[in-house]
Amino acid sequence: MKVTLENLTKKFPGFQKKQPDVVAVNDVTLEIPDGKLIGLLGPSGCGKSTTLHLLSGLQKPTSGKIFFGDDDVTALPPEHRGVGLVFQNYALYPHLTVLQNIIFPLQNLKGKDKLTKEEMYQKAADVAKLVQIQNLLDRKPNALSGGQQQRVAIARALVKMPRILLLDEPLSNLDARLRLQTREEIRRIQNETGITTIFVTHDQEEAMSISDMIVVMKDGVIHQMGNPQAVYDDPVDLFVAKFLGTPPINVFGGKVESGYLYIGDERILETPGIADQTVIAAIRPEGFILSDTGALTCKLRRVEIMGRDVSVVCGHKDSENTDIRAIISSDIAVDTASATVRFDVKPEKVFIFHSQSQERLR
Ligand code: ADP
Ligand code: MG
Repeated sequence: MKVTLENLTKKFPGFQKKQPDVVAVNDVTLEIPDGKLIGLLGPSGCGKSTTLHLLSGLQKPTSGKIFFGDDDVTALPPEHRGVGLVFQNYALYPHLTVLQNIIFPLQNLKGKDKLTKEEMYQKAADVAKLVQIQNLLDRKPNALSGGQQQRVAIARALVKMPRILLLDEPLSNLDARLRLQTREEIRRIQNETGITTIFVTHDQEEAMSISDMIVVMKDGVIHQMGNPQAVYDDPVDLFVAKFLGTPPINVFGGKVESGYLYIGDERILETPGIADQTVIAAIRPEGFILSDTGALTCKLRRVEIMGRDVSVVCGHKDSENTDIRAIISSDIAVDTASATVRFDVKPEKVFIFHSQSQERLR
């Protein structure tokens, strides 16, 4: 099911009378293609949960519209939208077994949708199999691990075969290993069901790794959307460039003069088409090439072993980050006794931004 948001805005009144409204979602227009897994990504407080609540119908927008396919669902109550919801804290009923929890949403169907007991059990058995908890059906939630509880929550959200599945930070309560495993599970379940799924997270790596498309949000505004690699390779502004990637991108104050980027006095890169001005230059950690004659000179601090690669940690007076990190292959020897280290840069890994608007200059 294709989902369209049209100039969607949600304002909350300020906490005290004189405080201004909080604009949690600010004039968002977005088209989410049918059958894909979308990662909605942004820092805490940027409006991700509010966006999901608007989609589910739990909250009403201040203005704007929501369409599922061609249906305008803006005024439709949550129970008629056909949306499955999964939250961070599972929200299972503790006194019910896994099976009863999964069946729960089917029990209040009325009229022509009403199911017999056998039909309910069949549907529950099918989704339990899909999320691989078929051997846990008799247990109570407190006898399950966090990962298993989250699977039950996903099964419960899927049992009505929703038109859209919304997941709000579903992995946050899991330990590192389970997070990895469960995110792959979510990817598989989405592939198998083909249900349009919106996966909310503040964790860029999580979103990048499983999404067909990511939507990067800040302060209620969509900054960029696209396939994860394309957004990483071609950020539209400094916020997106900084939000994606670990270690984070290295940010420098610099200038463009006569067609070249300078950091300090050093001429780093040809920048055809960019007018002379002070700029912000950002270099991905994998964008550095160690070279005795390199264009950029940094103070060498230390070298961190990462296995396949090493991280050369260094400093520069024009760097915004305290530590600059350059990721290079562990095959390359770094002279750790040296006080400085020099790099050339890979042009496709360097992005230049306007010093005020922080938008990309090209
Ligand atoms: P996220 O899920 O990205 O962390 P939210 O959508 O929960 O962000 O919140 C976005 C903004 O809206 C925040 O500034 C938050 O404080 C505010 N907000 C969310 N819900 C309410 C509410 N019910 N009343 C007032 N402000 C709210
Ligand atoms: Mg949230």
